[in-house]
Amino acid sequence: DIPILTIDGPSGAGKGTISRAVAQRLGWHYLDSGALYRAIGVAAGWADEDLADHVALMRLAFNTRIQFVTDAGHEPRVLVDGVDATHELRTETAGAAASAIAAIPEVRAALFEKQRSFRQPPGLVADGRDMGTVVFPEAPYKVFLTASAEERAERRHNQLKQKGLEVTLDGLLREILARDARDAQRAVAPLKPAPDAVLVDTTGVPIDAVVERVLSLLPE
Ligand code: C5P
Repeated sequence: DIPILTIDGPSGAGKGTISRAVAQRLGWHYLDSGALYRAIGVAAGWADEDLADHVALMRLAFNTRIQFVTDAGHEPRVLVDGVDATHELRTETAGAAASAIAAIPEVRAALFEKQRSFRQPPGLVADGRDMGTVVFPEAPYKVFLTASAEERAERRHNQLKQKGLEVTLDGLLREILARDARDAQRAVAPLKPAPDAVLVDTTGVPIDAVVERVLSLLPE
């Protein structure tokens, strides 16, 4: 039996940072499911697909090759049909495209098996919105990570500032609230904690402490 730890929550709660750190500490695999949705969103843009054409988008979701490349000593990269899309995937545009195509049931269904295939020994940390509710409901360890919207906007603001991008905190907060509302209100796989998930609020908590808290949920 392969152990799975799911880490779900809204954008900017720190899921990526925490999940990567926890996976590294455990020596487990890591699934960044948001990157899959971002990759399909970006691929849909490249192919100029109509977002109303669910069948075309489903086909795209089945056929797009998404590869996670981790070379020792390098930042992890994501290749979409062989093209390095690492930076493009991190943009707010890609996030919005992901959120739009993520509301399409056929796209979610097409990505289901792709996500399940990440279940490999010795274990998996799965990061997303519906990991504990839909994709890995059988997972023995589930976390729902939250933080106040203000703190999430501030973290994103700092990340962008480090990259030399100037955006207003107010605009970011509005974007985050809009994306949260869309993710929580959509008909398929709305963002909500699994009934058996442990809620972890990261507002004002340093990363290391959150990592320890999450690791404390697993047996030694
Ligand atoms: O986590 P990340 O910001 O990369 O996810 C981008 C978007 O993809 C989210 O806003 C959400 O709409 C969608 N998503 C999803 N289910 C997941 C992961 C991401 O619907 N498991």
